[in-house]
Amino acid sequence: MVADGETFDFIIVGAGSAGCVLASRLTADAGTRVLLLEAGGKDTNPWIHIPAGFYRNIYHPKITWQFETEPLAALGGRRMAWPRGKVLGGSSSINGLIYIRGQKQDFDQWRQLGNPGWSYDDVLPYFRRAECHELGADEHHGADGPLSVSTLRAEHALHDAFMDAAVEAGHKRNPDFNGADQEGVGPLQLTVRNMRRCSTAVAYLRPAMKRPNLRVEIRALAHRVLFEGKRAVGIEYLQDGVLRRARARREVLLSGGSINSPQLLQLSGVGDPEHLRPLGIAMVHALPAVGANLQDHLGCRVIFKVANVETLNEVSRSWLRQVRTGLEYLFARRGALMMGAAPIGLFARTRPGLAAPDVQYQFLAGSFEKPGGIMHKFPACSAVCIPCRPESRGWLRIRSADPAAPPAIQPNYLATQNDRDVMVAGLRIARRIFHSPAMRRYAVEEFWPGADMDTDAGWLEHVAQTASTTFHPTSTCMMGPHDNAVVDPTSLKVRGLDAIRVIDASVMPAVVSGNTNATVIMIAEKGADMLLQRGAAAAVGARAA
Ligand SMILES: Cc1cc2nc3c(=O)[nH]c(=O)nc-3n(C[C@H](O)[C@H](O)[C@H](O)COP(=O)(O)OP(=O)(O)OC[C@H]3O[C@@H](n4cnc5c(N)ncnc54)[C@H](O)[C@@H]3O)c2cc1C
Repeated sequence: MVADGETFDFIIVGAGSAGCVLASRLTADAGTRVLLLEAGGKDTNPWIHIPAGFYRNIYHPKITWQFETEPLAALGGRRMAWPRGKVLGGSSSINGLIYIRGQKQDFDQWRQLGNPGWSYDDVLPYFRRAECHELGADEHHGADGPLSVSTLRAEHALHDAFMDAAVEAGHKRNPDFNGADQEGVGPLQLTVRNMRRCSTAVAYLRPAMKRPNLRVEIRALAHRVLFEGKRAVGIEYLQDGVLRRARARREVLLSGGSINSPQLLQLSGVGDPEHLRPLGIAMVHALPAVGANLQDHLGCRVIFKVANVETLNEVSRSWLRQVRTGLEYLFARRGALMMGAAPIGLFARTRPGLAAPDVQYQFLAGSFEKPGGIMHKFPACSAVCIPCRPESRGWLRIRSADPAAPPAIQPNYLATQNDRDVMVAGLRIARRIFHSPAMRRYAVEEFWPGADMDTDAGWLEHVAQTASTTFHPTSTCMMGPHDNAVVDPTSLKVRGLDAIRVIDASVMPAVVSGNTNATVIMIAEKGADMLLQRGAAAAVGARAA
């Protein structure tokens, strides 16, 4: 236990994708004392570490936060579950393991928005520093970092059929979505090492926990940042029913993720006075952008019933098949248990003239009503269509001064015509692939949305009924050069305050074209260099621990 008022050099809130990286990099210097506070517990649940365990744990009450959105206007007014990791490793311990950095254009656009140091050429060394890529080191990949990245090993007739069908429909093959070009169809890469999940807790934190200068406190919920004037000096947190205080000699680092970092700032009196004062929160600093600019990737599925092939739906219903799958995993080191959220990916353009793909697809030889839900009783396969760069932005606000109360979350999905058009065009592309000859060998009937429907309004109704988050919230503490930003791009310091930075998914100026974990780890690697005042030149080859 931390003694009341004990002082550290840095206090990090949140042992998630970003927080574990920071804890490792900062404590490499034996003279730097770091306290890492994590609201969740240890990552001992065995299903965390088996890649396919992802589907079992999405809504596990002991290792996840179970947030819920406000009613969603474009989705018929329904609310949507938004789980996040609440365990060592954070969401990197419960995510779908898919490793995709995003496109070169994403980071070049971040730079164009007024964020020096965040163009693709600037950030590539940090991606490479993090990676221990199975493909080895080259200009695109790193091989000496702590984070293992492997190409998926799960062969299935439907995987081949989907890739062949995509090629028949005019898409190219792409063996490496993290290489020179993201476009095309191919196997996904996963954060997997020796058949097991490589979360940031595994990759970065475990080795660093051997160091005497790192203190990790679990089941420790940060209640507020302590300020003296505009300077952050510590954290007040609840652990085992006791309210404790720890002090930071140098800085407080918020790595609670896109929901919790803005929540903690607002609880601490940093946000919009018109929102916080009526809740009885004493203002420290007016910064209305805290919680604004929320983005997320929305996903919607096309599902086909299949024949002449076994799917994951049957496996999920048969003990015998599950035993076979377990043996395949243990002894052949491949098969369904090696899969994360999906085995096959595709990036495509919904219209000619686009500089880069604007939709991502994930194909699965199985189907369900919602991710983490029960699989269908009939043999089927599915492709989820995920527009890469939504324009819509929402917001997040605390509802009360109670740190344990979930905030109100409004992602404003599909608020622009372009977002709706891309989703509809993307779903039509998915349907076309299922109708290509290679898939027609198996696909016998369109189940979702149903073959008779092909109007824009019909597709949007399908989206309203069935679409779900793909768990990628970002930008609620957005970096930028202006007042509509929370952190400064050159330091990730909170604008107008001293000794406090936000380093996690919430600082992205815009969500990237891919899955967000890789980019969060890059942000934390770069954030650590900002704290250590090192340049990108030192980035590649720096091993953790
Ligand atoms: C179900 C799911 C599937 C996903 N699938 C993929 C995928 O396949 N590929 C991919 O790239 N990305 C995926 N993502 C997204 C990716 O994992 C996240 O973008 C990334 O992990 C976010 O990192 P972070 O550090 O910002 O936050 P997190 O990793 O969520 O870490 C935040 C940590 O802070 C802790 N915390 C929060 N508030 C407090 C507090 N007040 N006091 C103490 N501790 C606190 C939390 O418990 C948590 O451990 C998925 C996410 C989810 C939830």
